[in-house]
Formats: sequence, structure tokens, C-alpha cells
Amino acid sequence: MIGRTTILLEMSPLFFWQWGGLPRQSVKNLFFLLFRSSTCLHGVGKLALRQTVTFFNIANGSCLPYHLRILIPGKMDSMSTLIKTLLSCCILSTSTGFALAQEQVVNLYSARHYSTDEALYSGFTKATGIKINRVDADDAGILARLKAEGSASPADVILLVDAARLYKGETDGLFQPIQSKVLNEAIPAHLRSAASSNGGISWFGLSTRARVIVYNKIKVQKDDVDTYEELGDPKNKGKLCIRSGSHPYNLSLFGAITEHMGEEKAEAWLKGVVDNLARSPKGGDTDQIKAVASGECDIAVTNSYYLARMMRSTKPEDMAVVNKVGVVFPNQQSWGTHMNIAGGAVARHAKNPANAVRFLEYLASAEAQNYFANGNNEWPTAKGVNADNPALKAMTGNAPFKSETIPISAVGANVTKVQQMLDRVGFK
Ligand code: FE
Repeated sequence: MIGRTTILLEMSPLFFWQWGGLPRQSVKNLFFLLFRSSTCLHGVGKLALRQTVTFFNIANGSCLPYHLRILIPGKMDSMSTLIKTLLSCCILSTSTGFALAQEQVVNLYSARHYSTDEALYSGFTKATGIKINRVDADDAGILARLKAEGSASPADVILLVDAARLYKGETDGLFQPIQSKVLNEAIPAHLRSAASSNGGISWFGLSTRARVIVYNKIKVQKDDVDTYEELGDPKNKGKLCIRSGSHPYNLSLFGAITEHMGEEKAEAWLKGVVDNLARSPKGGDTDQIKAVASGECDIAVTNSYYLARMMRSTKPEDMAVVNKVGVVFPNQQSWGTHMNIAGGAVARHAKNPANAVRFLEYLASAEAQNYFANGNNEWPTAKGVNADNPALKAMTGNAPFKSETIPISAVGANVTKVQQMLDRVGFK
């Protein structure tokens, strides 16, 4: 089998670099190489073919100049040839290096991908000069990728769309707690992680979504579904549609309910929910709303933005669905409606941590909050910023509603317990 040496050069503005199995002098030599232009990288690419040297950009899979991985088969003496060739094909210039060092970037791994976010990102670059390199994936994909990349990860900022997943990222050590007066003042304490031992905060909620109940307006009385408890009440037997119990949105809801009711009562309630199912859990939240409209079930659970999206749709089929369903924000007389969050964190191994904090602070600003929340029909989290969204206003009757105020970090902390309960009650 061919032996292999791996060097990972990250030509960030700070010229961070790592290496494995290389003589220190070689690393020093390489450190002074400046890979400036795509032409240069192209040259390296050709070299790669001849010497079985490969590179790829770990930020987004494309050819950016500052991330380069080189795999060298065979003996170390190929290294000197490599360095010479690199030197001849790349630009070695202190002044160029200084220019490169001035380029400010922030590498973003995002589970949010809405067209309005583009305006958000360009607003940040315009205001700060910091360029955003973005990788899109879902929550689970981002957490898995961060784990796999370890300290080599180029990620600076992480955006996820569920409290339990943010909690998991924190407990898996994928984030670094940060101290930011701006964020601490803007984001309410119950919508961010608990403080770490050094007082830092691992993640901040940047928008909220309510987990609401929709019902068939003709067949169901609103009073029979205006609490989460009633989802498990025998009076609603055979009426309920809900997505998989182990989906993060439900894990977070059940984690919150466990916090409110206590473990024993929460498990009895979950058993009641399973007994009330009209069909085995399947599909996403939008599918549950549609199943109510089609008559397959009478009651369903959904995140508010899926309903808002349909309310804003001009498609006749969506409008027909919306006309058939009513919506309630549960538990207005008790602990309030369960709110989940989309939130942000600084990656544990961020190479541009200052830029990462700056980006999160920007997302908490009034201007960015409007884009961030409205882009997905959500509510802003920053104090003093109000949603201006016609669908949300219509959904709430343009009146304030009571949302739960338990620390959102408690929701994530209950998830392991919830998973065990789901197994015991047979909630797939
Ligand atoms: Fe969603």
C-alpha cells in the first residue's frame, strides 16, 4: 500500500496552518508560499496530476485560494521537488501576501437557505467588508461534518434551525462559548444556551417559530384543541396527524412538555398522543396540514411558518387548504405556546473567530433581524424588534400571544429522556 503524507494548508488571513509527518523546515518553507490566484491553483492542479498531488477546497468544494490539502504518496524526498515546483508556479511576494492577509472572510455552515438570506449576507459584507463563504446543509449534516472535520474544519459560524440540535452541538463540543455584550443584551436569556464555566454563551436564538395546532374548522371545536394536553385526551381519539416523534421539532416540543409536566405525566401524555393517531406518523409538517384539509385527520401539529407559507401562497390548491383549517396557539391559559428557535454559534475551531462574532452580532441587529425572521415567516428574537409579517399577523389576529419562557436549553437537555419515552410508548 502506498504511504501518504498529508499537509493541510489553510491560507486564511492569519496564515493558520497544520501539518502531519512533515519536517518542520518544509513546513516553514511552505508557510511562505502565497497561493494568490486561481491561475496559480490551476498550476498546482496540473502538478497534482503529475505527482499525484490533489487539492480541494474544504469550505465549499470549489477552488478558493486559501484552502489546500496535499496528499503525497511515497517518500518524503518528493517534498523538495514539490516545494520548488510550487515556488515556481505560485507568486512569492510579501506585498501580495500582505494584500491577501487583509482579506476578511467568515466561513458559514448554514441550515437556513432562503432567498431573502442573500440580502442579509450582502448587507453584512457591505457594512463590514467581510466576505461570506457559505456551505448549505441540514442540521444533522452540519453537525456530522463538523465532527468529521475536527480541528481542520474551516467553519467559523454555524446556523441551525432547532434548539435540540443546537444543544447537541454544544454538548458535543462543536461550538466555542463567546462573550459578546451586544448579543447578551439583544437576545433574551431564555433563548440562548446556559452560560459555560467561563461565562461564555455557546449559541444564541435568532428567530422563533411556534409549534401550533391546526384543526378542521367544520369537524372540530377550537376549545377541544387549545392545549397540548388535549392532543393526548381520549376525546380526540383517531383524529391526530403528526410527523415522526423523533423528528427534532417534535423532540424539542416533547422536551419542553417534559419540562412543564414532569417526566411521568409527559410519558402518560405521549401514550395518549399515540392512541389518538389517525395514521402512522409520516411526512413533514406541511403534509400534516394538507391531511387535515383532505379529511384524512381532523387535528395536526405544525411549525407556524409552514402554515404562514401556505397563507402567503397564491397557488389555488394552497389557498383551498388554508381555508379549511383553523389554527390555535396552545396553552394560552397556562405555560404558553412552545417556541423553537433558529440560532447561531461560533465553531469550536473557527479560524476567524472575531469575524464570526461580528456576523452573529449583525444577525441580532434590528435590520438583519427583519430579514432573518421574515425570510422564513418567523418572529425576531432581539429585544425591541417586532415582526412585520402579514401571515403571522393574520394567524395571531394581530394580537400578542403567550409563549413559553422556560430556558430553551432545558428542551435540549430533556431530549435523551424523551427518546427513551418514545420507545416505551411506541411513538415512531
Ligand atoms: Fe422546518
